[in-house]
Amino acid sequence: MGGEILDKQAAEAPLLTPEVIRETAPIYKRLRHVIPEIEWPVHAPYVAAILKLKAERKAVILAHNYQAPEIFHGIADLTGDSLALAREAAKTDAEVIVLCGVHFMAETAKLLNPSKTVLIPDLEAGCSLAASITPEDVRLLRRHHPGVPVVTYVNTSAAVKAESDICCTSANAVEVVESLGTDRVLFLPDEYLAKYVASQTGVKVIPWKGRCEVHEKFAAKDLRTYREQFPGIVILAHPECPPDVLAEADFVGSTAGMIREVANRKARRVLMVTECSMSDNVSVEFPQTEFIRPCNLCPHMKKITLPGVLDSLRSMKYVVEVDPGVAVRARRAVRRMLDFAPQSRHSYAK
Ligand code: SF4
Repeated sequence: MGGEILDKQAAEAPLLTPEVIRETAPIYKRLRHVIPEIEWPVHAPYVAAILKLKAERKAVILAHNYQAPEIFHGIADLTGDSLALAREAAKTDAEVIVLCGVHFMAETAKLLNPSKTVLIPDLEAGCSLAASITPEDVRLLRRHHPGVPVVTYVNTSAAVKAESDICCTSANAVEVVESLGTDRVLFLPDEYLAKYVASQTGVKVIPWKGRCEVHEKFAAKDLRTYREQFPGIVILAHPECPPDVLAEADFVGSTAGMIREVANRKARRVLMVTECSMSDNVSVEFPQTEFIRPCNLCPHMKKITLPGVLDSLRSMKYVVEVDPGVAVRARRAVRRMLDFAPQSRHSYAK
């Protein structure tokens, strides 16, 4: 039985032809610093097949900064952090959105553009933060902290967003918290992001106990070792990292913020304390900068592969749906974030 499945997959695998090599040559030219030449013939037939089928399906491919370079630079139409992908999903007029990221991102795309078919190539592309909290947990917290608004990181299920007053991403968390005009907020579910936000504002931040399984692995002592080894290195860290790691960094911010720092600082050597593929993807745009890569991969992001994306477009799977009753409330929390402007203040009443 297993042999039959493998035979079927092999029979459906796209072939490396001279035409495919020609078509994908300009893409590989950009990627040659991060993908060895010997590997490209494996990726190229999938890249060519996906680009063709994507056009036939009138699909748009959105890829998160943590996707592998052959996806990020090879097949994606739009790339970025969670906030950028949410904005792009909201405004696309493509009929199909293929989300190369994790499940909560696909749900957010569906919330913001409900008439579109949203596909995720692997249903197991989850997130340790999203898995750390349930809607019942949020209801319980509200009972313990009556009247305190709930700010929820987008790395949560639609059902948790539906229990929230407003969403945020790591790019706007501090501003969103301050926009509510209250002296305290419940901030869910990332404990470390909550601590970082608390360090940046006078608002009392009540955290949950969720953690990103990728960022929590970084250690401050490792960063000190890198500094000794590479004098002058610029260290950029994601706020999902532990506080002692952030204390060692030259800059703390979202993945989009890190990219801006690389562009602005024009540093010779950079260490991005975040998921490993991010450095590969950014290094394509900044070939003069040397990226030191402490390699922590997100196992969920890496569920998305080129064969998986091709299969997704061929079979139109896996379609992401959100219960309409949940969607209407979750959409309100996400919309409040997207409508957010630093000068405006939100009423937090549900
Ligand atoms: S990197 Fe962390 S926060 Fe991002 S999807 Fe993976 S587990 Fe979730």
